[in-house]
Amino acid sequence: MKRVNEIFRSLQGEGYWTGRAAVFVRFSGCNLRCRFCDTDHGRGVLMGDEEIARRAAEGGTGFVVLTGGEPALQVDGPLVAALHARGLTVAIETNGTRRLPEGIDWVTYSPKWEFCNGAEPQIARADELKVVWTGQDVEHHLDFPAQHYFLQPCDWGDAERNRESLAACVAYVETHPRWRLSAQMHKLIGVR
Ligand code: SF4
Repeated sequence: MKRVNEIFRSLQGEGYWTGRAAVFVRFSGCNLRCRFCDTDHGRGVLMGDEEIARRAAEGGTGFVVLTGGEPALQVDGPLVAALHARGLTVAIETNGTRRLPEGIDWVTYSPKWEFCNGAEPQIARADELKVVWTGQDVEHHLDFPAQHYFLQPCDWGDAERNRESLAACVAYVETHPRWRLSAQMHKLIGVR
């Protein structure tokens, strides 16, 4: 059984698949405590793999994003197999501190080791690397093997500070074009 905080359909608002319809499975619990964490992942109900897969498939998007919290604390081979058996493309958003089961179709790695002790990566590659940007030096992240590199301005929970952060991020990407902007579209358009 897995502890799941919520399952809902929306549009992916971050990274490469921005704008794509997806069902999000948000797992409870995280092994890190980032100071800017805005995710409610404390509560949850126990669910079996088949129930999770059925609910994910009911969304009708064909695309499931496993998120959290830290989904890799709970996601395993049998769950990935159950999702694939329903014809779903399986993506995961991870802080990279746990090894992943085989077969996940898309890995989004969001490194947190600059912000949290004990967050060094245990994965060797990703499809996309997405860095939450607070103005820190990020060029060394380009050494991590990934197909796509995204900078995402930190959400400070303050509109004025967020505008400044976004403007700085846009200016950075303009002059460092290996990076692309991830602007948390879901917040801009007012969906979950
Ligand atoms: S890794 Fe993600 S979910 Fe975990 S504390 Fe940090 S921001 Fe929150």
